[in-house]
Amino acid sequence: MASISRDIINKIKAEIDIVELIGEYIDLSSSGKNYVALCPFHQENTPSFTVNPNKQFYYCFGCGAGGDSINFIQEIDNLSFQESVLTLAERAGIEVDIKGGIDKEEMKLREAIFSANNLASKFYNYLLLNNDIASEAKEYLNERGFNEEDIKKFNLGYAPDSWRGLYNFLSDKGFNQEVLLKSGLVVAGKNNSYYDRFRGRVIFPIYNVRSEVIGFGGRVIDPEDFPKYLNSPESPVFSKKKLLYGLNISKEGIQDKNEAVIVEGYTDVLTAHKFGLTNFVASLGTALTREQANLLKRYCDKVYIAYDADTAGDKATLRGLEILRQAGLDVAIIELPQDLDPDDYIKNKGSDAFIELESKAPDLIEYRIDLIMEKYYDQSANSRLKAAKAGVDFLATIKDELTQDAYAKVLAEKTEIGYKEIKNKIEKVKKENKKSRSWKQQNRAQEKSIEEDTKDPEWQVLAYMLQNQKYREIGIDKLDPAYFSETTAEIARQIWGDIDITATEVISDLAEEKRDNLARYFFTEDRFPSKNKFNNLIKEVITGNIEKEISNILIELNKSKECDYINNLLLYYKRLLRLERRDV
Ligand SMILES: [Zn+2]
Repeated sequence: MASISRDIINKIKAEIDIVELIGEYIDLSSSGKNYVALCPFHQENTPSFTVNPNKQFYYCFGCGAGGDSINFIQEIDNLSFQESVLTLAERAGIEVDIKGGIDKEEMKLREAIFSANNLASKFYNYLLLNNDIASEAKEYLNERGFNEEDIKKFNLGYAPDSWRGLYNFLSDKGFNQEVLLKSGLVVAGKNNSYYDRFRGRVIFPIYNVRSEVIGFGGRVIDPEDFPKYLNSPESPVFSKKKLLYGLNISKEGIQDKNEAVIVEGYTDVLTAHKFGLTNFVASLGTALTREQANLLKRYCDKVYIAYDADTAGDKATLRGLEILRQAGLDVAIIELPQDLDPDDYIKNKGSDAFIELESKAPDLIEYRIDLIMEKYYDQSANSRLKAAKAGVDFLATIKDELTQDAYAKVLAEKTEIGYKEIKNKIEKVKKENKKSRSWKQQNRAQEKSIEEDTKDPEWQVLAYMLQNQKYREIGIDKLDPAYFSETTAEIARQIWGDIDITATEVISDLAEEKRDNLARYFFTEDRFPSKNKFNNLIKEVITGNIEKEISNILIELNKSKECDYINNLLLYYKRLLRLERRDV
């Protein structure tokens, strides 16, 4: 934190509107003074994620995640504090001067992994282009339609079929074993030995949005080898669930068209690019995640899924597609001919034919009705009922009434059961669902609300002090970190140690639990208290502390069993304190 000046952080925060920022990731709807949404950090059906535009803070009443715009970027894009400050600075058009360079171990490690990855990609690429040992790999790529120009353009590579080729190369360049292990490029063997993870494979470097190499995918050349695809493991820079392969080269295409096509494999993305289809990304694993959905939502409003026919219909895939829909994306499913992946299809039939497929793609809801029909319907009366019932259960989960109604008609047509019947059934199922939901909600509301009397004055005082300079001065004048208990003292020390410290800085230094707790107090305190009320809170902190001290003394005295008189006096004093407190 020390390396980015406080002025800059404040300037950035003043430029960025948290509602606008978060609104780019998830759909916010206004609710009184706040905005609410389904929480991007935990799974839920009713929105408990709340953004307060006045305080420029967010807080989730479901999972407790909370913070300001910088924290939000940190969490949702998996960035370090500095990286998220830099990201927001760029957005706000503010230049950031990092004093003293990188100051965190973690930052150093990430940087080292990035440069090891970058060098590794050059190593692999060089071998593929220039070394005879890569001839089979080259042949394989040529067969798939990638020539030397493509290899250069997409930085494809070859990992030699040796145990320590890359390890030796990177060690010679000065990378230590910790970096190599954590990058996932190298695996630890027995007796302190190390060996290369990727051996005898065609290498596809995987980039983040900023076109830094974060990991690799390796494909076997010999079809008998196993596994067919091998990816880098999770690392400080590589998180599969937050990643879309090809987004770095496709983001502009996606933005221009306001549409993305999600495919399964690396070569699908690269072939598409070769044929001028520049809005493809691959999911590396077919079950899409909320993080990936949010990432896409930043660039477009519509996505096409082009998986092979078997994958598209399976349950894990469908869950992923629902996540896309919940993130506010229109989802359509491209139906490819059996046994053709997008790669083959585009190569054989051209990009126009693929665009033609896009135009015929059913949207997710229709597609799901089709799947239900396929599963149950065989033209018998009984199968029609079964299909209708499954269809009704599905349609009842759709929130938008108009959409629901439109597809009730589709289901009625397909099952040849009257639209009215279908509509009635949907209403009935919705009512039942609602009953069980509101029961759950009530339970949760009881659990989560902070009752007035469970508020901790120490947290309250610190939260006010962090949000307002006037209260901060009063607090510093009348209190001292020693008055605070163990949990809150850390925050108090920061404020007393540096009267200008910002809430962001304090929050960024805290462990997650404390940070979320502080954010909760920022949120539940609706307006600033009067000066009197604030003074009372200060008093409570002081008396609370004195009571604690007295209790400690009493315990000590009890141990010695000697001074009954003093003991009684102290008890009396404690009672007086309590009475005094009630008065104010
Ligand atoms: Zn949450």
